[in-house]
Amino acid sequence: LWSHVPSAPPDSILGIANLYRKDPEKKKLNLSVGAYRDDNGNPCILRVVRKVEQEPAPDHEYIPMAGISLFCQAAAKLILGENASSIAEKRVVTVQSLSGTGALRVGAEFLYRFYHPNPANTEKPRVYIPRPSWGNHRKVFESAGLKVSEYTYFDPVTCDVDAKGLLEDLKNNVPSYSVIVLHACAHNPTGADPSEELWKEILQVVLQKQLLVFFDSAYQGFASGDLEKDAFAVRLFEQSGIEMLVAQSFAKNMGLYGERVGALSFICKDTCPVDAVQSQLETIIRSMYSSPPANGARIACRILNDPQLFQEWKQELVEMSARIQNMRKLLYEALVSRKTPGDWSHITKQIGMFSFTGLNAKQVRYLREKHHIYMTEDGRASMAGLSRETVPMFADAIHDAVTN
Ligand code: PMP
Repeated sequence: LWSHVPSAPPDSILGIANLYRKDPEKKKLNLSVGAYRDDNGNPCILRVVRKVEQEPAPDHEYIPMAGISLFCQAAAKLILGENASSIAEKRVVTVQSLSGTGALRVGAEFLYRFYHPNPANTEKPRVYIPRPSWGNHRKVFESAGLKVSEYTYFDPVTCDVDAKGLLEDLKNNVPSYSVIVLHACAHNPTGADPSEELWKEILQVVLQKQLLVFFDSAYQGFASGDLEKDAFAVRLFEQSGIEMLVAQSFAKNMGLYGERVGALSFICKDTCPVDAVQSQLETIIRSMYSSPPANGARIACRILNDPQLFQEWKQELVEMSARIQNMRKLLYEALVSRKTPGDWSHITKQIGMFSFTGLNAKQVRYLREKHHIYMTEDGRASMAGLSRETVPMFADAIHDAVTN
């Protein structure tokens, strides 16, 4: 029956993780997957999460299709701000999702079904993602039947955002009404974010061209250690009064990766479509997976709604982001002290979990085959996967790859 089915190509990120698993070498190092590790290289459960986990679940009943409403409200407040007018004016619809990916997928499905902004054009608006972007973005939107294109984002020479190219592309090449996906903070894979000034300029183009923004917020609080700072762009856009979508993940900032805790919010212009949007989101969810899992969202809900637990969480966010920033510093210093050819200052300038090292695919393969160090072929390495013990080994390997 299935003899005609071709094997799917391995996922660019999870495929590398599989190769890592199969490598018998003891001193191997996995920097391909975006998951936080402590300084001993072990996965860790946040103290505040452990604490909440001591509280027994009230039951294992189904939760509603849209998830736990107290969680949804708290998630929207976290990203839009305590005093957001869209919340006060009841213009926000939030549903719980299967982490960030699920929020993007349900949002994409909704756009496929209902986003027909230009009656003169029967062709569906395209979704524009940054070049480069998180490897799954294209697939998530294409699975919903949407066409995906890219906008200029990164300058490989400066290892920073190509501000001029980005603005020109949005102005000249992205048609009005298109959907644009913006990484709220800690752009994955480059670790390079627009400055506050550039965000303001992007917003102006969005307004002029009537683009529909879909924010992807996977690293709030995890990037800088400051929940408010990492929400700057989303809040700036919200304050302009535009309609937009926001996908949130609690995988990294609460360390709830496998619990699949996320939220999808629609910020509407007025209250009138809110009930209809909510009901259609529920219809989509019902046919995809019926209702979301309860456990992780219950934990997140407790932390977000209890002032004491919230403070404890904020403290742990500071600790995690500081450890990652320290790894960046140590790696940079290790490369400089080895006189490794090249300018490595981008390692400390970039933020978030990843560093876009600038290593090419050949060098990445060399690291894997000779040094048992695993990263994605675009040169992205998880700084959260490094420790004080492994930084020298990584720096030696980079030095070898660059000078060989
Ligand atoms: N968006 C971006 C930019 C990401 O980096 C990730 C996680 N790697 C996600 C979304 C979604 O992750 P999850 O589904 O695990 O929340």
